[in-house]
Amino acid sequence: MSRAIAAITCTCAVVLTLLGAPRVATHSTATVMVPILMYHHVGNWGPARPDWAPWVVLPEDFRAQMDWLVQHGYRTISFRELLECSSRGVAPEGKPVIISFDDGWASQCAVARDELMPRGLRATFFVYTAAVGPVPNGSGYVSWQELRELEAAGNEVQSHTVSHARLTDVLPEQLQREMQESRRKIEAEMHHPVQALAYPFGLHDGTVMQAARIAGYQCAVRADADSSIGEPLLYRMPRLRMGYGDSLALFAECMEASARSH
Ligand SMILES: [Zn+2]
Repeated sequence: MSRAIAAITCTCAVVLTLLGAPRVATHSTATVMVPILMYHHVGNWGPARPDWAPWVVLPEDFRAQMDWLVQHGYRTISFRELLECSSRGVAPEGKPVIISFDDGWASQCAVARDELMPRGLRATFFVYTAAVGPVPNGSGYVSWQELRELEAAGNEVQSHTVSHARLTDVLPEQLQREMQESRRKIEAEMHHPVQALAYPFGLHDGTVMQAARIAGYQCAVRADADSSIGEPLLYRMPRLRMGYGDSLALFAECMEASARSH
């Protein structure tokens, strides 16, 4: 299986490991795998935009995936809960999974309202702050008002930088600005610490990961789950991407791989 799943080892000494990677010997008493799902769009328009097809999930496929999570007893958690559990050396309760949405498209509000909340699920929304206005304005992007409503319903907002820049290509000054200004803006609008960063396009290297740490993020996520990249350190946590037409069997295979690793 090419799509590995992020795992968190709940000890004080070792935080993350990767499914299939060598285990680090610890005195751990609690290990739990936490798959991190990544979505962008839920819609029927994938074939009309082949360049977007990897980032669009059919509504019926998305519903089937969410139903599968519920039927198999998964509980959605936030990055905040994941990090709290990690710092305390305890496993999140039940069968945890993180559902994440990137870019802050306005259509994601309806997905949360119509598909997630009725199923008792919640998600993390990674937004880039330059696209977010104070109130809904028809731009196609979510507003701070809508994001506050999402958080009031149990969801979570985290950072996807200021301008969705290719962080591996920008000058050091812009790298810091993308990291720090987006974090400050979200914290000012949402009134809580911003702990997690999603790299735009998943692009990251050692310099980018170091900048994320310096900017105050406690973890960062990629846009893939390629196990050849190496162990999923806190600042390069893999995510599982489901694309247009991916089968429920593939989804189930990826999720069940997590359970088998317990
Ligand atoms: Zn993005």
